[in-house]
Amino acid sequence: MTTSAPSVVRTRFAPSPTGYLHLGGARTALFSWAFARHHKGVFILRIEDTDLERSTPEAVQAIIDGMTWLNLEHDEGPFYQMQRMDRYRQVIDQMLAEGTAYHCYSSPEEVEAMREKARAAGLKPRYDGTWRPEPGKTLPPIPADRKPVVRFRNPIEGVTSWNDMIKGPIAFDNRELDDLIIARPDGTPTYNFCVVVDDWDMQITHVIRGDDHVNNTPRQINILRALGATLPEYGHVPMILGPDGEKLSKRHGAVSVIDYDRQGYLPEAMVNYLARLGWSHGNDEIFTREQLVEWFDTRSLTKSAAQWDPKKLNWVNAHYIKHTDNTDLARRVAPRILERQGDPAATDLAAVMGLLKDRAETLNQLADEAMLFCRPFTPAPDELRAEHLTPEACALLQDFAQRAAALTDWTTAEIDALIKTMLTEHGLKMPKLAIPLRVAVTGQKQTPAIGAVLALIGRDTVLERLDALKG
Ligand code: GLU
Repeated sequence: MTTSAPSVVRTRFAPSPTGYLHLGGARTALFSWAFARHHKGVFILRIEDTDLERSTPEAVQAIIDGMTWLNLEHDEGPFYQMQRMDRYRQVIDQMLAEGTAYHCYSSPEEVEAMREKARAAGLKPRYDGTWRPEPGKTLPPIPADRKPVVRFRNPIEGVTSWNDMIKGPIAFDNRELDDLIIARPDGTPTYNFCVVVDDWDMQITHVIRGDDHVNNTPRQINILRALGATLPEYGHVPMILGPDGEKLSKRHGAVSVIDYDRQGYLPEAMVNYLARLGWSHGNDEIFTREQLVEWFDTRSLTKSAAQWDPKKLNWVNAHYIKHTDNTDLARRVAPRILERQGDPAATDLAAVMGLLKDRAETLNQLADEAMLFCRPFTPAPDELRAEHLTPEACALLQDFAQRAAALTDWTTAEIDALIKTMLTEHGLKMPKLAIPLRVAVTGQKQTPAIGAVLALIGRDTVLERLDALKG
């Protein structure tokens, strides 16, 4: 075990596996990851699974899946606290031997009575130190048949302070901190203690975590000091609020990162959006993962809570969709077409992506719209046919079919040129031809640009569907 400061930056993400990877957790993971990458350091994944009632293997998997989706690869771990119990016991024994921790035989009822007494005296409720060894103090006789807890011998004077990487200087009066229980009567270590031993053993240099842990930090610092460990730097990230200013929760929509995959968000867009939620680099809204790593700096993390903005997320996602190449998009959209009972191989999906991607906000929207090219044709409903496939419109479509059959090439440009010629000849406006064409060939009134749609559907199919109108 070394206690000297390692020269390399080492950060960790330490989720408790009690549910999916939520947005706040993902953002904390992203900041820890980006900080490590920026400093060419090491990013560690640690699973804090000591709460046996709430931790599940499914939740561990959900966290790992979320991290994998966001592409936040760790360099060490995952380490599981439940597999480190022997190590925690060893440190507890060491602290007992060194006198930085002690056995306390007060029963929970007795401790409650001490708290009540303090409260009645207008003081902060706390353990009164009955079993805390002091020079010259005689401890009470050990009660028979009672298993002790182990308490940390917290300093009783002075302040514990740190310069938070995000919040600035923070100080706690040591008198406010109780002698923390570090092991229960059955010997199992408690939460704060496991975190301390892990951060020490894993030589964590920078702890970036949610600000719900600010109150734990002075306790952890004091235990680290008692162990002679080098202290990490701490940075506490403010929480994420919903658009209404309340703490982000299910009421505001999906809070599990993986749900955003299901809804058709690109992981690149999610990383970009999450990074901007509480961190900034000038006015840059769109940046690559590489730029994030290059620019990441805890000084640019905001002290105030960030607000979830679904519209902005959609805007970022639309940007990434637009800038993803068609083949790559097709690969990502194909499984979503299968889910919709479509056949992604029924068309040139990459070309379809090229046609649709400029106005899509999610991959799901792309899949919905691409279904036009991926499902068997269903003729338009009667009312649409009655409205748009009038005898005049049908005559126009037959003229179109004849000329289409004669085109040299079946390309968007050729088809567009033909449509234009026909409109001029017949003295018509675009919708007069385009809408009947859409209704006849696609079964629907609205589609992307008609020339491109017809090109993608293919000449034979288009002619077949126009021919069917004759019957
Ligand atoms: N397991 C804690 C949580 O999920 C994080 C502890 C830490 O980062 O120190 O909130």
